[in-house]
Amino acid sequence: MTKTELNAFRRILENSQTELGNDNRNREALVIETSPDDLDRIQHASERDYAMSNLERNSGRLREVEAALGRMEAGTFGICVGCDEHINLKRLTAVPWTSFCIVCQEAADRAEKMPSGEVDTAQLIAA
Ligand SMILES: [Zn+2]
Repeated sequence: MTKTELNAFRRILENSQTELGNDNRNREALVIETSPDDLDRIQHASERDYAMSNLERNSGRLREVEAALGRMEAGTFGICVGCDEHINLKRLTAVPWTSFCIVCQEAADRAEKMPSGEVDTAQLIAA
């Protein structure tokens, strides 16, 4: 990866870090409001659920972004943590905070979906 490309990724990651760190809109929705009206309370509870799941997703993403910036400092940005191969530039452009190449990512996704110890026969037949 060239220095220019690396700098471009750094800017993207730093922007996401700032955006994700300033997540006030979701945080504000977490404030518990009491209302004498049942409908209001239900409405507010569902807004809080939504904000909560947004916050969880964002804080997970923020950790990934910060880890990617850390790898950039360490000089290992763009190298898959699973197999030490260079991550495809197209993939990095789409998901700059990724720590896996597409092969390792797919393996990780499969492992996550599968109950442990079970072989995904559909996958084997397809391959
Ligand atoms: Zn890999």
